[in-house]
Amino acid sequence: MKLLYFIKDILRPLYNKLFRYYIGDVIVLHRVVDGEQSKATKNKLLEIQKNELVQLINQYRNDGYEFVSLDVFMKEKNRLFTNKRIATITFDDGYRDNYAIAYPLLKELKAPFSVFISIDIIEQKAALWWYVLEDILWSQKEIILDGKTYTINTDEEKNDVFDIVHAKLSGLDTKDTVSWFKKNGVDWDTINTKYIKSICMTWSELQAIAKDSLCTVGSHTLTHARLPLQSTDVRINELKQSKSILEERLNCNVHFITYPYGACSAEVESDVRKIGYAAGFLSRGGSVRKDQNRYRITRTKWNQ
Ligand SMILES: [Zn+2]
Repeated sequence: MKLLYFIKDILRPLYNKLFRYYIGDVIVLHRVVDGEQSKATKNKLLEIQKNELVQLINQYRNDGYEFVSLDVFMKEKNRLFTNKRIATITFDDGYRDNYAIAYPLLKELKAPFSVFISIDIIEQKAALWWYVLEDILWSQKEIILDGKTYTINTDEEKNDVFDIVHAKLSGLDTKDTVSWFKKNGVDWDTINTKYIKSICMTWSELQAIAKDSLCTVGSHTLTHARLPLQSTDVRINELKQSKSILEERLNCNVHFITYPYGACSAEVESDVRKIGYAAGFLSRGGSVRKDQNRYRITRTKWNQ
């Protein structure tokens, strides 16, 4: 009994204190907006208002956190003893507002940040189906999808249909998603191009922020692929090509990756390690613990 007591009440808390304790937050963001926002609730969750981002940073700083780059964050994680409370900001996908709205603000606030880029987005050939879906629902009062007629007068009705379709399309490959819209009579190319042109960062915008030491660039794959669902060849290509394209175009070393949809598996992890990434990040899970596997580092959502 005494031994049990010793392990349970003394050794374990000591072990937790030394090796498992929380060192800080890798905050996951997507878009920063100034005033205007998306209409669909799910798309709104991808956005933070500019003033909310300022509040978030101030709140962390008031709580004693220091904002550091992702490199410094990972170094602190590997240190045996640290009393620092640290945080770092990450943006996924590659939206233009990261450059136009977030960057000047973070520079002013001296807060390091990372952008994780899907090559398709920066190449202006992504399928932004979640915005196309919002567009078609919020521009009509009735819609026929898969042969079924939906009355969509109110935001609530529109969001209900959005959620149904979102759930259906989330599990599909990009090619099948685009086919689904076209099959339902949606002018996919016109609407998708409109969003690509307005919300995707370009190479020159990315180059402009990448050369600032405040900014770290990481991979978010080539096509925003759900990695565990891909064949070995496709998976390796997504991981390797995205890294080398970014390194060549930006003349920098890319050694971090965020998994699209937070989707990882033993195979993904092993390939990411082999290809030479130093760490991989999930989409959720909260604060980072010292003992976390560096290829499955959790991140913190600001609004949940
Ligand atoms: Zn993403």
